[in-house]
Amino acid sequence: MSKAILVINCGSSSIKYALVSERREDRIYGLAENLGSENARIKGITAGGEPLELNIPNANHQQALEILLGRLAHYNPQAIGHRVVHGGTLTKAELLTPAIIQRIRDATPLAPLHNPAHLVGIEATMRLFPELPQIAVFDTAFHQTMPAHAYRYAVPKFLYTEHNVRRYGFHGTSHAYVSERGSELAGQFKQGGWLTAHLGNGSSTCAIWNGNSIDTSMGLTPLEGVVMGTRSGDVDPSLHSFIANNLGWDIYKIDRMLNSQSGLLGLSGLSNDMRTLIEASESGNEDAALAIEVFCYRLAKSLAGISCGLPTLNGLIFTGGIGENSAHIREKTVGYLHLFGFKLDKDGNNTLKRGTEGRIDAGTGPQIWVIPTDEEGRIAKETECVVEELQQIKQAEIA
Ligand code: AMP
Repeated sequence: MSKAILVINCGSSSIKYALVSERREDRIYGLAENLGSENARIKGITAGGEPLELNIPNANHQQALEILLGRLAHYNPQAIGHRVVHGGTLTKAELLTPAIIQRIRDATPLAPLHNPAHLVGIEATMRLFPELPQIAVFDTAFHQTMPAHAYRYAVPKFLYTEHNVRRYGFHGTSHAYVSERGSELAGQFKQGGWLTAHLGNGSSTCAIWNGNSIDTSMGLTPLEGVVMGTRSGDVDPSLHSFIANNLGWDIYKIDRMLNSQSGLLGLSGLSNDMRTLIEASESGNEDAALAIEVFCYRLAKSLAGISCGLPTLNGLIFTGGIGENSAHIREKTVGYLHLFGFKLDKDGNNTLKRGTEGRIDAGTGPQIWVIPTDEEGRIAKETECVVEELQQIKQAEIA
């Protein structure tokens, strides 16, 4: 694998990794999970496509990275791209310098679960591979093109100017990738308006005009917006004081409930997994059926809402585990958007499953696409671009 990029996504107890070849056609990938516990292990796919399972009891992030990087070092990756959830107001991928690392640290109050875990990974790989360029690719960066009327909350100004309270948006690498790919497939590369729906355990929508995000459903944190696996999405902000006054819960308990016990899980009382809910609903479970209905209705409402910023609309793109796999959810959601003139090709819709991209509208009205997301590929591409820019700057300095 020549000129490969190593992509690292560090979570609090896991590390996703992918070694991506220059043209992004070859991948070695996997996951180190349960880090810090007896059950720590690495599961992945090797260069030959063989499954890899390795027990690494009690390994921490640094130790797991040492093992992973040791196994991958002979491929001579040319750079490491780190997924970083919150980059504050940084607008693009950046070389990890002490100043950029400080910006990631400064954004920690805005992503308290994610950014500290990313920093652990960044510090470990910098110690292990000091000679390699390391690039941070931010989930928030794609949405930095949103206009102020889309990113400001209607709260006192000092919260924005002194405390950075604004809408940031997330899933940026996914929305950027699928909108670019969809527009390329449609023969309208980065032209006109697109709506994207990234529907996985976390879900969000985005409106894109000429390749730039102009609005998105997630806000200051990834809780705002559409219904998700365990996250509520939008609720009346006074719900907090209502629960505090009537149930005596503190703010942390309310926050946990909205993030971990709500969404599809909360509505159904059964599961956060859409497959389980579809099966249960087909067997007559009314709570599961309602959870699916609320999910699709609110998703359609979000798409309709953010479409306000688009002068014209080419089409809608579904992605993520639910968006790529569930014909049922796509059909229901499009059904709620009939005023936009969307018309589904039902047979086409029913045949598209994970890993397959294709167009599923009936040929009248705006286009509808299913595009499997490729966050690792996008992170590798952005990392490569930063490395090339750095090389050009170096060459210009020498010349
Ligand atoms: P992700 O976070 O992108 O991996 O997506 C996870 C979500 O995709 C879970 O809610 C799964 O239930 C859902 N999912 C995966 N396959 C299907 C399927 N065939 N039908 C409906 N939902 C699915």
